[in-house]
Amino acid sequence: MAPRIYLSAPDLAGTELALLRDALESNWIAPLGPHVDAFEAEMAARLQVPHAVALSSGTAALHLALQVLGIGAGDEVYVSTLTFAATANAVAYVGATPVFIDSEDASWNIDPVMFAQALDHAAAAGKLPKAVIVVDLYGQCADLEPVVEACRRHGVWVIEDAAEALGATYRGRPAGWFGDLSVLSFNGNKIITTSGGGMLLSRNPQWIERARHLATQAREPVRHYEHKSVGYNYRLSNLLAAVGRAQLGDLDRRVARRRAINVGYRQGLSDLPGWQFMPEAAFGTSTSWLTCATVHSERERDSILDGLGALGIEARPVWKPMHLQPVFAHHRALGGAVAERLFRRGLCLPSGSGLTPADQDEVIAAVRNVAGRTPK
Ligand SMILES: *Cc1c(COP(=O)(O)O)cnc(C)c1O
Repeated sequence: MAPRIYLSAPDLAGTELALLRDALESNWIAPLGPHVDAFEAEMAARLQVPHAVALSSGTAALHLALQVLGIGAGDEVYVSTLTFAATANAVAYVGATPVFIDSEDASWNIDPVMFAQALDHAAAAGKLPKAVIVVDLYGQCADLEPVVEACRRHGVWVIEDAAEALGATYRGRPAGWFGDLSVLSFNGNKIITTSGGGMLLSRNPQWIERARHLATQAREPVRHYEHKSVGYNYRLSNLLAAVGRAQLGDLDRRVARRRAINVGYRQGLSDLPGWQFMPEAAFGTSTSWLTCATVHSERERDSILDGLGALGIEARPVWKPMHLQPVFAHHRALGGAVAERLFRRGLCLPSGSGLTPADQDEVIAAVRNVAGRTPK
């Protein structure tokens, strides 16, 4: 059955059309223009990170983050194993080698103790990675302070993949504030959307100018077409930036709604035997991009997903860790058992900010019904 209730459907703010009309009427229908500039400035202000470049996707932002750091063949990049494939794919794009790091139970994000020890060992062996891509999973920040501190100690760059976490906080600061370079996504299923888009932010103006140059076909500022680097066509359209500005203006409501949905699921389902919701760590507030929980077993998880699917409710397993993906399985991984358990027993429930209370009640009733009939 085709889903009626989606995992994370796009949700309009209501002001998109006015801003889009302005973009169209001003004839700025290009991958640059006043809405792109304003979207970058507004996001930079929101994240308290001064420099930003709007891009065609979060994946493009990850790719350019690695490019501007000069990372390539022969370099290692440590990566949270429990993430969406785009995080690790970017490492492959530049020909570098990912090393996958397990999750911690407390936040489901990169294990900061394991990570710091791995850097100490790598330093002793003279084989430090160039960077880490630390993911803020399902809208919750990783335990960023010890991760950043370990990186500073060893001269390792931090790329913060905050694609799922726009609007989250860590110790009072916004997700995306912590990376030497930080990545956002505006894909259709994310906290805010431009249908497709992303952004790269940094305190370092040279990196962002370099990323902007590479994203604009690496065209040199001369009259003829001059190129000294291999460039990309990665800029965000002015039309889509107009949509992004409308969505950004609605960010706080959207996050509040996703967090309320999370509370609703906890109230409605916590008494089910074996259910454990993704914990919210004391160090911050999550966007609750998706509400996730683990159940007794993979078998029970699959039977719940099947039952919901038959009712037209879209639910999904937790990300399959990168060290278990056939395309990356030959790369090194440190630990992995925690992420693997979260994947095998974990599921994500419909969590879009446009989900109505009636829809959520229907999902809760369906889960209770299906879980009650499911063998453990
Ligand atoms: C969505 C996502 C991306 C990729 O963003 P796109 O805009 O879809 O390219 C990267 N990392 C994580 C963790 C994501 O969830």
